[in-house]
This record gives sequence, structure tokens and C-alpha cells, in this order.
Amino acid sequence: MLRRALLCSPALLLVRPALGQQGPSVVASFSILADMTRQIGGDRIALRAIAGADVDAHGFQPKPSDAAALTNAALVIRNGLGFEGWLDRMIRSSGFKGALVTTTDGITPRMMQAHHHHGHDHGGAGRRHNHSVGPRQVPDPHAWQDVGLAQHYIRNITAGLIAADSAGEALYRRNAAAYAARLTALDQWVRAEIAKVPEARRKIVTSHDAFGYFGEAYGVRFLAPQGVSTEAEPSAAEVGRLIRQIRAENITALFMENMANPATLQRIAQETGLRVRGRLFADALSAETGPAPTYEAMFRHNISLMVPAMRGDAA
Ligand code: ZN
Repeated sequence: MLRRALLCSPALLLVRPALGQQGPSVVASFSILADMTRQIGGDRIALRAIAGADVDAHGFQPKPSDAAALTNAALVIRNGLGFEGWLDRMIRSSGFKGALVTTTDGITPRMMQAHHHHGHDHGGAGRRHNHSVGPRQVPDPHAWQDVGLAQHYIRNITAGLIAADSAGEALYRRNAAAYAARLTALDQWVRAEIAKVPEARRKIVTSHDAFGYFGEAYGVRFLAPQGVSTEAEPSAAEVGRLIRQIRAENITALFMENMANPATLQRIAQETGLRVRGRLFADALSAETGPAPTYEAMFRHNISLMVPAMRGDAA
């Protein structure tokens, strides 16, 4: 069912018609940034997400229509930290003349081992082909998985919108203030929910290591079998090690993600007798009708699955 949804959902899903739009034409690199931008820009802006709902933005292949949208945009919103190498290439080749907002500006990135994200483009083009050194450390781009850090995203997007459209400043500031307050409350709710799990049980196995910032912010340890991505398979030894660890530490929270290959996780589930506790949303939102159509809904959905799974509650 997911595969069908993936195949059938065009990147255009997040573009809503903005009748009476007076503000700028904005392009966001992927669904999470598009939602944040919509919360601040409202119907004043024309907005397009390039990598839409349930689309893996890591190894994304843009279409010619994406490049055309870029040419006409006043503002492009990207995550940065090496997340959207494809976008940087598009910007260079499209003749884009607008302003570029990097939502992670001002954030001190945590570092991650490059080989944990094979198949992805995090290290920048070419760099991952360097085999002469050991595991390289590259910036972890998934800063949106810490709701506290999303405040930087709000500030950067708001400043970009105001610079592109000063007439909309009052609206953007009002929307941004309301959104920031909602995210502060969301962050507190996440902490209160995690606090319901005994400390020793705050461990989750999932399919790609997108939750580094989440883990640091909320005190949850994430384990992902090395090699698990949409493109690479982990070795039998790596999967065996993880299975022994799951048993030894009595880990019960096993998850898939909305964009990753489920085969290895299903194998781990079979061998440990654990049930996969559902699907977490990491790097992409769901379609409007799904469980995580906004950034805020994504957190509520993920937490509502994570907490009972970590506690080992009967499903
Ligand atoms: Zn990722």
C-alpha cells in the first residue's frame, strides 16, 4: 500500500493554489520545509515543494519542471548541511536569480559517520568515494528532528520571506510568532511523553539514522543496522550483531520509516520475534490524508508510536 502511495503521489501534492496571492513565489526543497514555510507565509505566498510527501529527498532526481519552477522563484528554501546536493546543482544550472534561505544557518551541526548514510548524498558529491581514510565525519543534516532547533528554521524562513516581500512583514511576523509558540509547546510535550518511559528502555531500532538530533535532544538511543538505506544492504554479520544487541538489552521498539527499504527490518523482526511497531516519519511528511501531513503532526505521530513501543506495552 505504501509502495503504491509512493508511486502515485506527485511532488506537486504540497502545492496549493494561492488565489489572491500577493507575495513571492517560493520553492522549498522538501516537504518538511514546505510545511514550515506555509505556516509562516500562509496563503500570501505561492509555494512548491520539490521533493513532496513520502519522497526521499536524499537521492532525489529532479525533473525538468522542477528546474523551471526554480527559474521563476523569488526565494528557495533549503535545509543545507549537505542534505540537498541535487538542489545546489539545479540552482547552478537553472539561472535562478532569487534569494536562497538555508534553514540550518545558526545551528552548530552534530557530526555523523559518513558511511552510516551510504546511498545518500550527505557528504557532498565525490567525497564519499574517498576510501583512503577511515569513517569520515560529516555534518548530520537532520536538525529538524529536534523541535528546539526548528526555531532556527522559523527565524531563517521568516527573515527570507520579509527580505523578499517587505509588504508582508506584519503577517509573516505574526504567523511566525504563533508557530514558534506552538513548537515550544510541542517540544515540552515531547519531553513529557519521553519521561513516561523508564530511562533504561529509551532505545529504538529503526532503518536509517535520521534521529541523531532527536536522540541528543530527548535522551533516546537510536540503533540502525549499518548499510540500511534505500540502496545498500547491510552484511549478515552486521544484522546478526544488531539482533544479539536487541536480545541482550531487551529492546522492544522496532520501526520502519516512510521512505526506507523494509526488508532488513522485517528480517530482524522475524529473528527476534518482535513486531515492527509501525512507520516513523523522518525525512518526509505524509500526504494530506496520511498520519503526518505537517511537521507538528509528524512529531505527534512519531511520539505516539515510540513511547508505547519503548515501554514494551502490548500492542
Ligand atoms: Zn536522512
